[in-house]
Amino acid sequence: MWLEAGRDGRSFTYLDRHGLGVGLGDLVLVRLRGRPMHGLVMETRQPSLPKMLVRDAPAPRQLQEIEALVQPAAIEPHWREWIEAMASRCHISPFRMFKAALPPGWLGQRPASQTRPRKLWWLQLDSAQERPSDLTTRQQELIAALDGGRWQRDLLAQGFGTAVIQGLLQRGLVQRDQRQAPLLTPGAISRTTALEPLEQPRALTAEQHSVVEVFQCLDPGEALLLWGVTGSGKTEVYLQLAAQELAAGRHCLILTPEIGLIPQLVDRFRRRFGSSVLEYHSGCSDRDRVRCWREALSPAAPLLVVGTRSAVFLPLTPLGLIVLDEEHDSSYKQESPMPCYHARDLALDRARRTGAKVVLGSATPSLETWKALAPQGAISLTRLTRRISDQSLPPVHVIDMRAELADGHRRLISRPLMDRLEALPEAGEQAVVLVPRRGYSSFLSCRSCGEVVHCPHCDVALTVHRGSAGHQWLRCHWCDHRAEVESRCGECGSSSFKPFGAGTQRVMEKLAEELEGLRLLRFDRDTTGGRDGHRRLLEKFAAGEADVLVGTQMLAKGMDLPRVTLAAVLAADGLLHRPDLRAGEQSLQLLMQLAGRAGRGERPGQVLVQTYCPDHPVIRHLVDGRYEEFLSLEAQLRREAGLVPYSRACLLRLSGDSASKTATAAAVLAERIRPACAGMGWSLVGPAPAPVARVAGRCRWQLLLHGPEDSPLPLPQGAELWQGLPRGVALAVDPDPLNL
Ligand code: ADP
Ligand code: ZN
Ligand code: ZN
Repeated sequence: MWLEAGRDGRSFTYLDRHGLGVGLGDLVLVRLRGRPMHGLVMETRQPSLPKMLVRDAPAPRQLQEIEALVQPAAIEPHWREWIEAMASRCHISPFRMFKAALPPGWLGQRPASQTRPRKLWWLQLDSAQERPSDLTTRQQELIAALDGGRWQRDLLAQGFGTAVIQGLLQRGLVQRDQRQAPLLTPGAISRTTALEPLEQPRALTAEQHSVVEVFQCLDPGEALLLWGVTGSGKTEVYLQLAAQELAAGRHCLILTPEIGLIPQLVDRFRRRFGSSVLEYHSGCSDRDRVRCWREALSPAAPLLVVGTRSAVFLPLTPLGLIVLDEEHDSSYKQESPMPCYHARDLALDRARRTGAKVVLGSATPSLETWKALAPQGAISLTRLTRRISDQSLPPVHVIDMRAELADGHRRLISRPLMDRLEALPEAGEQAVVLVPRRGYSSFLSCRSCGEVVHCPHCDVALTVHRGSAGHQWLRCHWCDHRAEVESRCGECGSSSFKPFGAGTQRVMEKLAEELEGLRLLRFDRDTTGGRDGHRRLLEKFAAGEADVLVGTQMLAKGMDLPRVTLAAVLAADGLLHRPDLRAGEQSLQLLMQLAGRAGRGERPGQVLVQTYCPDHPVIRHLVDGRYEEFLSLEAQLRREAGLVPYSRACLLRLSGDSASKTATAAAVLAERIRPACAGMGWSLVGPAPAPVARVAGRCRWQLLLHGPEDSPLPLPQGAELWQGLPRGVALAVDPDPLNL
């Protein structure tokens, strides 16, 4: 929708003929293709020829002039500087960074009267006045409802008559003044709990209370990790920290990785804070996002915004709190299009600059965050060790698929799992079954002994590559080690030694065959489309319309289904041996999260994991529930091997319609940057075909750079990297990629 900044960060230039003297961040009125629009001034190197972002359209044929100054400094200088700094961190032009940060349509919209928000009456108690004893019950109720101040409109909607309000006004007990109205989204208005009194905070447990204390002792700009299992009361802590910040007049941002988790989170915050809660995520319409943006620019009262990763950009000032719930979740990372940013990095950086405080919440923190804990790092640690309900976590049973095979049982579903599933309907219970989405590529594994072929240098599973003539070979994505595909297992000599990983679709079909008589519901990207897709499907399942919910990774994320007593994983191996450095860490996070789905109601739960590798550290630590011990082992392995986060990485991704052109461009680019890499102590792997070598007809190649921890990328700043690329080949820079 935007004027694409292009390789050189081009934007529209306008003429300031009237000498308005526009400055950076001013909102101005311009014409584009004859239509009046808002533009944001981005560059004033030549004062009479400022450059600006308007919207995506072919450039005007002639130089047009600026018609009027709409709002000086519409965006804050500090915010603008922050975006520019983040642009440089993400190796992208400031223009494209702004494009990613601003809501689509904010500038492009035809300016209309709605840009000037209406004024509304705001009522507030006059605290200096004594409360007379002769008030009517209704007047007393109004005074109670007014605590902290309310919009007259909302009070009327709540059923207070004008007479009651006038009565208190006349006696001087209440003050009234006109203020800028909040631009609530229609969704917000319909779901405002105006008719119900706001929910009271709960009395905190001792553990929760100490988290609040640690938070209060943080210096502005600092962060804490809130480490607590599901149900340990993390959200209640977020609510109370937010209440403090709002009361102090500071805004709050609550981020969640998954759009499917937004509705329940918004409901919870609205019950506590009413109409000061807004939503900002890709499920909102452009219009709603623009409204939320405008509201953030000129709020009538402190706001709390619940959103996904892009909400980290909202121009809220002063910002008191940023929460990242499920901080380990990979959805916080934007992979494409550029900018490739991680919302956690941006949140921490923004807090440091603005004096906000960050809370990272998780039951299974990322290794990055764990490594950054005090005293070595800057993040304080707080823990919630007990579930509020005192329910224990369900036990984990591992099913050794090698033994199943040895007994001649070759089904997808082992006998113990089958027994459990078949008993569900009678007991009135339900199960969730995770079918790990096939990794990008498959690895070679032995079905008899569980052996998986690893890179001798990197402790990462080697990936099976398929050439055009059907030839197969193995390759390590990290160091480019190559090997031949063997047909027999090097450990036990078995010939059940083949690439692992069947497509999700086929697994689903087979499952339906094997589970005859059980009612299945599928939960994956294909079946949960739309804003409320997740919710609808989960509601169907919760209503008992199926016995088993079968799905991919999404299944594990934050849902509360009291009748689920069994959580099962069909082939944990597909997770464990993804050819990715973080495969172990991410699978343990996922499996522990999945385990949290079982036994949330009255009946105890159970977890069943099918695998060919029951001795794998991830499985062992899952069974023992010792996540932190796993992290420290993993940290030691990565430190010794010099892998992230004990080194730094950067991916350069090339894609193009023509296979040969893209391959050549990758090779040329590699030669161009090789000297700088060598000079700065970085190594360069590739060019190599990307793990998914062809997507939507486009060929993809990549260069992987890795170098010392905390060192700058050995890449030229600005557009230089893109110069010399042939037409039709695109290049994206992903600093600190998540998938390696
Ligand atoms: P988490 O975010 O860690 O999963 P929640 O904050 O959702 O945990 O808490 C789990 C349940 O316990 C919720 O129903 C919540 O309302 C309740 N709860 C949380 N803290 C308290 C408390 N201090 N006293 C009573 N109930 C609480
Ligand atoms: Zn073997
Ligand atoms: Zn390797």
